[in-house]
Amino acid sequence: MRKNEEFVVTCIDETNQAAGIAKIDDMVVFVPGLLKGEKANIKILKVQKSYAFGKIMQRLESSKDRIEPACKVFNKCGGCQYQHIDYQAQLRRKHDQLEKRILRKLKGIEVREVFGMEYPFYYRNKAQFPVQIRDEKILMGFYRLHSNDIVSCDHCMIQSKKINDLYKFIQEHITLEMAQGLRHILMRHAYKTNECQIVFIGSKRNNFDDLISKLIHRFPDLKSIVFNLNTRKDNVILGETYEVLFGRDYIYESCLSNKVKLHFKSFYQVNPVQMEVLYEQAIKAAKLNKDMRCIELYSGVGTIGMAISKYVKEVIGVEIVEEAVKNAKENCQINQIENCHYICQDATKFAKECAHTKMKIDVVFVDPPRKGMTSQGIEDISTIQPEKIVYVSCNPETLIRDLILFKEQGYSCKFIQPVDMFCQTVGLECVALIEKE
Ligand code: SAH
Repeated sequence: MRKNEEFVVTCIDETNQAAGIAKIDDMVVFVPGLLKGEKANIKILKVQKSYAFGKIMQRLESSKDRIEPACKVFNKCGGCQYQHIDYQAQLRRKHDQLEKRILRKLKGIEVREVFGMEYPFYYRNKAQFPVQIRDEKILMGFYRLHSNDIVSCDHCMIQSKKINDLYKFIQEHITLEMAQGLRHILMRHAYKTNECQIVFIGSKRNNFDDLISKLIHRFPDLKSIVFNLNTRKDNVILGETYEVLFGRDYIYESCLSNKVKLHFKSFYQVNPVQMEVLYEQAIKAAKLNKDMRCIELYSGVGTIGMAISKYVKEVIGVEIVEEAVKNAKENCQINQIENCHYICQDATKFAKECAHTKMKIDVVFVDPPRKGMTSQGIEDISTIQPEKIVYVSCNPETLIRDLILFKEQGYSCKFIQPVDMFCQTVGLECVALIEKE
């Protein structure tokens, strides 16, 4: 097999990253976008030792799951990977792939059907648009897949409509002077309160006055405009220091009836509708009662802790981002919740201290970032012998790795409830219930 050679193949399976799998002799060929059962003429793009990559030249037979993507730039933009698949079929794929991956490594875990959205579009409450200047023109949009090139577009099918409006308005009114040194524009739209926030992120504090006065005139729900200075050389989006240009450095949102104050540096789930579904599932899995003491690791602005506080005796939340911990404390005050306490600390260090002091804890909630927990954290959490651990995960790969580590500590996973937080993309969020054997 050589680069640029063409073949007719039938897709026998799919990866969880939306690539079709075909076989040519003994060689596995990954073909992005090709669906199981489809036949296509493909061109080989890259050949490795035991596998290759190809691209579809012409589809000869189409899957019944295939639909016309709603977005015009679906094939160029790296944001969505599943818009060419019917939504119910997206959910089936996510479930089946997860179940297959889990059962390969662990026995006896029930993987439940994925909870999908009724209307799986315009759901995201946060966008980070890259900005570049090319030939005296401002480019704003999304990154192309595996690239730093910007795909310009005037509309995004998964961002909230309000974010689309803000984005379009900025595109129309931003000047070249303002865009000098600008790297990203971050936007947040609180789904329940409608409050919006814009953060200009760049290496140079330009004068945005003219744009800001136009924006606040046009969008009365815009409550916060911030400039964030980022002179870093890497691809981390936010810098340390910032200046409030209008209003506040936070907005208000609401989650499971609690008011949530949200600093622009604080993490918040990107799908506010499914976030409530997810947390309801986490709470249900824990079977809480008023005698219980709980820990919430990776607590963000305290949304899970506040939601469980009315069912339990006490919650201790642990989070590393200072602004988020400050928000969590303020949020408890705003909502008159007195049995939640938040600590700014590394989750692994906190777990170590709990293990040392032999703290008595009934349920541990964890909601780590994509890289999952640490093996030390898992060991220390197991040492304090909670009855249950409820693991909320946005990355099935690290979830499976961590479930194996928990198993080695005598804690086994009973079931996994996936929730589709990232419709139209390959992402999947899960709640896993882990219990002492
Ligand atoms: N439970 C929250 C946040 C989940 S996201 C919610 O649903 O909104 C993961 C959180 O873990 C982020 O807020 C991130 O800042 C925090 N985090 C990342 N690394 C951490 C660490 N080592 N120790 C504690 N918190 C950490």
